[in-house]
Amino acid sequence: MKKIVILGATGSIGTSTLDIIRRFPDQFQVVGLTAKSSDEKLEFLIKQFHPSLVALQDERSATNLRKRLSHSGTEVLSGEKGILEVARHSEADLVISAIVGAAGLLPTLSAIQAKKLVAIANKEPLVMAGEIIQREAALNGVSILPIDSEHSAIFQVLNGEEHRTIKKIILTASGGPLLRFSKEMKENVSPEEALAHPNWEMGPKISIDSATLMNKGLEIIEAKWLFDLPAKKIDVVIHPQSIIHSMVEFVDRSVVAQLGLPDMRTPISYVLHYPHRAAISLPSLDLTEVGTLTFEKPDTDAFPLLKTAYAALEGGGTLPAVLNAANEEAVTAFLEKRISFGMINHVIQQTLEAHIPQVTKTLDDVLEADRWARLEGKRWIKQSPVC
Ligand code: NAD
Ligand code: MG
Repeated sequence: MKKIVILGATGSIGTSTLDIIRRFPDQFQVVGLTAKSSDEKLEFLIKQFHPSLVALQDERSATNLRKRLSHSGTEVLSGEKGILEVARHSEADLVISAIVGAAGLLPTLSAIQAKKLVAIANKEPLVMAGEIIQREAALNGVSILPIDSEHSAIFQVLNGEEHRTIKKIILTASGGPLLRFSKEMKENVSPEEALAHPNWEMGPKISIDSATLMNKGLEIIEAKWLFDLPAKKIDVVIHPQSIIHSMVEFVDRSVVAQLGLPDMRTPISYVLHYPHRAAISLPSLDLTEVGTLTFEKPDTDAFPLLKTAYAALEGGGTLPAVLNAANEEAVTAFLEKRISFGMINHVIQQTLEAHIPQVTKTLDDVLEADRWARLEGKRWIKQSPVC
């Protein structure tokens, strides 16, 4: 039995992970789950999976849950401390990191420091503190497995290959729901329009990141830390069908790709069963039905955040953490209809411009950059015209 903890169990990745776990009752046992405040969803999961430890970030939601669960064998913790405790659950063999945003940084580090094998969907901590996460993983002798579909593709392609033979990696991007929108049309799209991803069903934050192409920007930084590659060896190509999940070009000019229907349950199954593969009943890819696979260069005038992310990656230090924090604040403000879609880019650019980059030797350096960028981002959000 592989014992599993899921951080962010009630979200899109958490739900897909539990869907796979449910299919293998004699291989996986859920021992820990966390969520932000959805106590009812968590209660439903506790009744199905009987974890020994759960945590809710929100204290009041945890109190509600405790009252309802008084006779169950599940201990309910709360707050950030509670989530960190679940992340380092003494019984866990594998921790699925699937919280959204910077909130996942300390729990992910906590799991690594407890010497757990960690599978990461939560890309923002890698963007903010990839160097520190990898350093801690090396110090504690643990591996990090990627869940993000592009990084899973590359991880699968690189299986058994020598790192020095990588010429470059090519991350594919669907282009999101606004790919064919003109700059003017994009300025004032509603959250509902921006959330309507053509190929993937995901949580709200990553859906907006896909609409701005910031998701791909975060993913190039994620790829740097997962695969130890410089920015110049990481390319992005628009591939609207989302069938090729990413590719690696080797020094002999051979290009190897991983393909599949866009369904996160495939990369999730890969990390759950790693280093093996298991049969799962999902629809098969029929290329004759897809018919055409197309590729385009990303238009960085229309989607400036991709260029901004490359600059942050090359600049290093606190820049990626500032980029990430300003983005999180801007996306939240957009989803709450406090700023227009066009203002997301503006808030991020202004925050980065105001920032004096520092080196990030310690976790505190990263957390301080994150804190500063949120305040600065909020200042620009307040000054933005209300939409
Ligand atoms: P989601 O919004 O659907 O779920 C987020 C989960 O995190 C929920 O369980 C929520 O309760 C919890 N959470 C949110 N804020 C929290 C906080 N402050 N403290 C503690 N817990 C908190 O998000 P998602 O789409 O599942 O994405 C999760 C992560 O995986 C993101 O970093 C995203 O970029 C990445 N990812 C998602 C997909 C996808 O298909 N959804 C694909 C690739 C990568
Ligand atoms: Mg992805």
